[in-house]
Amino acid sequence: MACLFCKIINREIPAEIVFEDDEVLVFEDIAPQAPTHLLVIPKRHVATLNDLDEADQSLVGRLPIVAARLAKERGFAEEGYRVVMNCNDDGGQTVYHIHMHLMGGRRFTWPAG
Ligand code: 5GP
Ligand code: ZN
Repeated sequence: MACLFCKIINREIPAEIVFEDDEVLVFEDIAPQAPTHLLVIPKRHVATLNDLDEADQSLVGRLPIVAARLAKERGFAEEGYRVVMNCNDDGGQTVYHIHMHLMGGRRFTWPAG
């Protein structure tokens, strides 16, 4: 499997892992865009949001739950934070294993660029 994030899951390439359970892995983004910038990913390889089906509901539902818990633990849940899932070229997706960005510790603008 050539997927970069599957390699991180399998410990074939290093990452700063901050949380792991049977279904989900969370690690530091290599190019952080905020004081906290984590990537919350399912351990099961799914390339894009377009590839999800109904059976993935509970798996994908865990991503924002884990993100919110980490935001609380890191102390910026009340101030606020940004979660983002990019899909395909126009959405800015560069790694084709779905992931939720969790960014916090600064103020974000809207609309996104
Ligand atoms: P996307 O652009 O697909 O939404 O987000 C991919 C994210 O993965 C980017 O924020 C990028 O900085 C991050 N990334 C790319 N390669 C690596 C890597 O090898 N290790 C880690 N930890 N993050 C990476
Ligand atoms: Zn993968």
